[in-house]
Amino acid sequence: MALKINEDCINCAACVEDCPNQAISEGPDIYMIDPERCTECLGYHDEPQCIPSCGVDAIIPDPDRRETRDELLAKKERIASDVLMSAKP
Ligand code: SF4
Repeated sequence: MALKINEDCINCAACVEDCPNQAISEGPDIYMIDPERCTECLGYHDEPQCIPSCGVDAIIPDPDRRETRDELLAKKERIASDVLMSAKP
């Protein structure tokens, strides 16, 4: 399941650097997680890295984005291969 940032976000950006998939970016009002890039950190870490970095507990699971472990790992592989392809000359 992808995670999302709720309205408690105070725009401190503490979570951005902790995301191995570059899924977190500044939105119009608060920071946002791209569900197409969030893998719950699977493939890199056992636990989501952004949750403990948030000082106001604004990062939560998104019930509208339920995914299996296999789906999340497949997403991680797709993101990694997109990075490799974009790095080719
Ligand atoms: Fe990024 Fe991991 Fe947080 Fe998802 S759970 S937004 S992959 S740091």
